[in-house]
Amino acid sequence: MAKTNGPTRHIFITGGVVSSLGKGLTAASLALLLERRGYRVKMQKLDPYLNVDPGTMSPYQHGEVYVTVDGAETDLDLGHYERFTGTTCTRNSNFTSGSIYRSVIQREREGGYLGKTVQVIPHVTDEIKAAIRSLDGEDVDIAITEIGGTAGDIESLPYLEAIRQFRHEIGRQNGIFIHLTLVPYLKAAGELKTKPSQQSVGILRTIGIIPDILICRCEHAMTAEHKSKLSLFCDVDLNKVIEERDVEHSIYEVPLELSRQDVDVFILELLHLHVTAVKMDDWKAMVATLIAPPKGTVEIGVVGKYIGLRDAYKSIYESLTHGGIANGVKVVYRMVESEDVEKEGAAKLLDGVAGILVPGGFGDRGIEGKIQTVEYARTQRIPFFGICLGMQCATIEFARNRCGLKGANSTEFNADTEYPVIDLMAEQKTVTEKGATMRLGAYPCRIEAGTRARAAYGAAEIQERHRHRYEFNNLFRDTLGKQGLILSGICPSRDLVEIVELKDHPWFVGCQFHPEFQSTPLRAHPLFRDFVAAAVKQRDQGSTGNA
Ligand code: GLN
Repeated sequence: MAKTNGPTRHIFITGGVVSSLGKGLTAASLALLLERRGYRVKMQKLDPYLNVDPGTMSPYQHGEVYVTVDGAETDLDLGHYERFTGTTCTRNSNFTSGSIYRSVIQREREGGYLGKTVQVIPHVTDEIKAAIRSLDGEDVDIAITEIGGTAGDIESLPYLEAIRQFRHEIGRQNGIFIHLTLVPYLKAAGELKTKPSQQSVGILRTIGIIPDILICRCEHAMTAEHKSKLSLFCDVDLNKVIEERDVEHSIYEVPLELSRQDVDVFILELLHLHVTAVKMDDWKAMVATLIAPPKGTVEIGVVGKYIGLRDAYKSIYESLTHGGIANGVKVVYRMVESEDVEKEGAAKLLDGVAGILVPGGFGDRGIEGKIQTVEYARTQRIPFFGICLGMQCATIEFARNRCGLKGANSTEFNADTEYPVIDLMAEQKTVTEKGATMRLGAYPCRIEAGTRARAAYGAAEIQERHRHRYEFNNLFRDTLGKQGLILSGICPSRDLVEIVELKDHPWFVGCQFHPEFQSTPLRAHPLFRDFVAAAVKQRDQGSTGNA
């Protein structure tokens, strides 16, 4: 382990020209490379919007809400952080202007600034600096802070000022700025353009930030001329103008591309840290499997409510990819909007898929389509994986169609159903505030022997992350159990059903928690691994040959 013998070093990553450049991926890739050189890395994202956290935003607005082990609802970039690295994200890994301002205003009400005028500078910037400092520790060599938004946004200003001050305070040798920018290709002119990046760095310079490293996102290769132009006008060393071209196959290629250009070496040099050897063999092997999977492709149907936005199910798609890597196959997704199932039928839209996954969600739009999808997977004996709302739909379907409980439902969708097989948790009944009030974060789950879940995990007790208000209603345990629904996972402390499955089916598992938050490309989550394995079997044997 390369101990730094000094304070935690800081890397600040900003973005320029446009949003959606992949700052999170770049940050995660750099963290991986530094970890693979023996450094202990922690990461965080600071988001300039005013929501206290993304938990109350629509998936269409914000994409997936990523849940940390300690139950924070956070930005999906944290998913990249955890998937790429060994870092564990916590509440301190994501702050927003909403959470920063809330702390400042709370302190003002408590009299913490008594006598003073409370202002953006220094009070808000001090709070931002405290958020950054929360990553510091004896066990952290390098802290990476990603600033959300784009240089030039009004709401980003306090963050840029705060990181400028922070670097000034810790000294140049202990902190660096990396700016991720876009070098667009103009088709009509047939060339790459550096001007937007120059202007973006110009904006940073007015605040007093000069990037140490410029990472340029581009669709086409940059020439030496582009690089020297950017180097000169942006005041960045020529060798630290890095090209980050669109990768061909997978986001997991990004670290390899950055490593090829020695970005991690430059970072260590700038931070006065030893340039230790980098070990990436397992990662390279994983990417090779991804690019040329030995066992071909397998098609999985994903039937969701927010299919129009890929980011809404980010960790689900990634986890399926990981399951594919573990099985030597490439997973291709057939994304199906559950409302379309209601109109056109599951048989038509899902014909030929080797596995069906129904992910989480909120609200009654598209629910009947999800339930029809479960019925199709169950009766056609297609491997099925239901996650959170997907597990709840599986329970409803089983109650209606196997137990004769006509109109069974979740009280989320029908408060007056005669058979509320999914119901609000007791402690939720008095909750009125929407933010951060669900059952959130990691809880233990005890797994019954002889079940698919036990076979997958190979353990009797596991921990998984949650984000939901409704639960399997214990009043129906007997009725559903008698008809063959196996309750294979139970939360021991609260006696809640966490996993359901079917015996007489190739692979049918629903879980109340979100396993997709614990899967990584090098270590596929066991349920995703086994689900994809079952799908591969289905592909190879057809729908009749499995047991
Ligand atoms: N809407 C359901 C609940 O709140 C499921 C939530 C989810 O899928 N994350 O319980």
